[in-house]
Amino acid sequence: MIGDPFSDDLPAGYSDADLEQAELERLGRASARARREGKCAHGWRESLEPAGSAPARDESPTKCLHCGKVAPWAQLDTEAREVLG
Ligand SMILES: [Zn+2]
Repeated sequence: MIGDPFSDDLPAGYSDADLEQAELERLGRASARARREGKCAHGWRESLEPAGSAPARDESPTKCLHCGKVAPWAQLDTEAREVLG
């Protein structure tokens, strides 16, 4: 049977929302595990750019407000991916 072509439902009965929720829950567990192990996923950040300047976000100096590390945004993203898997 061919389903509704406009539906988000997947063949197994799961919807995209179920998969998105599962991924968010996985990230939450990975983040909590990383914190217990003393690692930081840099999930709370503040730009250190002067007000009014607008460089490319990846290169923007950024401070993690959890661990205090200062690095370009893209580097914090890379480290977060390593921590969160
Ligand atoms: Zn951090």
